[in-house]
Amino acid sequence: TAASPLADLDTPALLAARDAFSAAYDELKEARLTLDLTRGKPSAEQLDLSNDLLHLPDGEHRDASGLDLRNYGGAEGLPELREMFSDALRVPVSRLLALGNSSLTLMHDTIVQALLHGVPGGDAPWSSRPISFLAPVPGYDRHFTICERYGIRLIPVPTNDDGPDVEAVASLLAADDSIKGMWCVPVYSNPTGAVYSEEVVRALVSLPAAPDFRLFWDNAYAVHHLTDERAEPIDVLALAAEAGNPDRPLIFASTSKVTYPGAGVAFVGASEANIGWYKHNLSAQSIGPDKINQLRHVRLLEDASGLAEHMEKHRAILAPKFDAVDRVFRERLTPWGAGAWTAPKGGYFVSLDVLEGAAARAVQLAKEAGIAVTPAGATFPYGDDPRDANIRIAPTFPPLGELTTALEGLCTAILLAEAETLLAARS
Ligand code: PMP
Repeated sequence: TAASPLADLDTPALLAARDAFSAAYDELKEARLTLDLTRGKPSAEQLDLSNDLLHLPDGEHRDASGLDLRNYGGAEGLPELREMFSDALRVPVSRLLALGNSSLTLMHDTIVQALLHGVPGGDAPWSSRPISFLAPVPGYDRHFTICERYGIRLIPVPTNDDGPDVEAVASLLAADDSIKGMWCVPVYSNPTGAVYSEEVVRALVSLPAAPDFRLFWDNAYAVHHLTDERAEPIDVLALAAEAGNPDRPLIFASTSKVTYPGAGVAFVGASEANIGWYKHNLSAQSIGPDKINQLRHVRLLEDASGLAEHMEKHRAILAPKFDAVDRVFRERLTPWGAGAWTAPKGGYFVSLDVLEGAAARAVQLAKEAGIAVTPAGATFPYGDDPRDANIRIAPTFPPLGELTTALEGLCTAILLAEAETLLAARS
């Protein structure tokens, strides 16, 4: 069958295409693959870049000020490490804390503290009445899980190439002061790769909203560039202060995808009032973070330019994988008009939209052929993609050869699912 957009084929041609896709799919199943495109994990080769962490800090146990890092104390984290990330995150060192290994834990704990105690500028704990969060979609499923766990209603907001749709955000905020938070991945967003423009950031910090409304500014991919066109850091704290809402942004980040996801360092940065609030909460939780791990990170990465050099090594490993995604989709899906996907300039994911109504079926077919793909819908609150179209591709973990095989197989599954979906609509 000569390729042309599936939706344009007459029914006999579509049936012939379906039969061809079905035969290809049967062959795929016979290959008995076990491949995984699900979670955005660094590959073993990337983890190897940080293996000096396994012997650092080589018997040292003091920071630059002479503090004995083996002991309690230093609740704010190592100043040298905070300094190293201060520029990329655009947070002054005095308002940037370096804590445990997971930024997700910091976001989770912030929400729990806000539910129990309220936040600066609020007049009651968030839990004193039903509240909601804005969720740009497609987005990060673990953000949604936190809200779902604590009964915080999620309101989806469409995302454009330059960030969340500001008009939608403005009208939601104006109509509903039970909206207390918004999830934001401002740089190389998970999963679309969108980078928020300065215009969008200015709008988000200045739109009228409840005084205890917070932007959960999850800058997980601030330094994770894949091309020379690097996203310039935007100083969201300064813009918020300028707009008269200094307490609105809460900035989170970590070294999970810089060094080791299992043994990195997480950061939180914000206004003086928010950081005071955070430290007060933390004082009931911990007598200080793992400062030896922080010292290891300082010795490994050294400073901001050492960090940038280290990220270039990740890029050298990752860029060919993202190129493979684009090439395979272009070769296999484009001739049939069978998908639209993002070409991120950084981060860990590609967002693929297939024919409406075909995503769940495509993921299921791929799974039955031994290719694990993130469940369709995972990128939407409550796992519900109303169009059943979005699939998140995580290309970082498998070696390049396996990745290509998995992508080819996924395309076979997508084509069959789309042909079936179109035929079902015509019958
Ligand atoms: N935020 C985003 C947007 C992510 O994609 C991830 C990892 N998949 C995390 C947070 C998790 O961060 P951490 O390892 O610091 O908990």
